[in-house]
Amino acid sequence: MRALNNEDFLALWETGQRLHPIDQGLLAIQSSLPDAASEAVADWPLGRRNQALAQLRVLYFGPQLQGWTTCGQCEEKLEFEIDCHALILRQEEAAREPVKIRGQVFRLPTSRDLASIVNEIDAEEAPLRLLQQCQILPIETTAFNRLTTPLSREDIEAVSEQMALADPLAEIALGFECPNCHSTSQEILDLPSFLWSEIEARAKRLLFEVHALASAYGWAEAQILAMTDIRRATYLQMVGA
Ligand SMILES: [Zn+2]
Repeated sequence: MRALNNEDFLALWETGQRLHPIDQGLLAIQSSLPDAASEAVADWPLGRRNQALAQLRVLYFGPQLQGWTTCGQCEEKLEFEIDCHALILRQEEAAREPVKIRGQVFRLPTSRDLASIVNEIDAEEAPLRLLQQCQILPIETTAFNRLTTPLSREDIEAVSEQMALADPLAEIALGFECPNCHSTSQEILDLPSFLWSEIEARAKRLLFEVHALASAYGWAEAQILAMTDIRRATYLQMVGA
């Protein structure tokens, strides 16, 4: 995995800024893993994708990921901090077993699967459609006899549990206890969106720095971006930006 220079970093942000968060995550991985074909990354299980995003987070911004959410009951601000190294290790403990339930076999969901249900607004229907897509069918099966034995709610939960063991980082759940009203809650960390918001913040800061130094000294964008962070910061102090 290679670190991007400032020029590459801005190009990444520029290319990805209008994409869906799923695609922004894939783009960020591809930019740092030039050998990973875009098709292949879209077919990685979600845990492997999130592991790569956690590695990128360490590379770009360091291992300590800090964020916040609000309490659903009293709107108190709830802060969290995650060590990305711990996330990366969690995926190493993957069970790597095929997921089987009542004779039906499922592969692990990928970014491509997730993208295909992104417009499904029915909260009950979305996980079922995802499972149907991940079902591995015998050759003689046609589209008409997929999931011939309907899965019960318990079966769906069992498949989800097995998938979580096989691909532990597919879903990053954060538990909270509100210090104000003491209610407990769980939130899912959307790593592609979180990382992209950090990429965007850094890209905008770089553009602001280019603007301030180009306005003061007349230097070209490429010259300013090629400076070390410390040199750029020192000039910015001098111009009072
Ligand atoms: Zn609260």
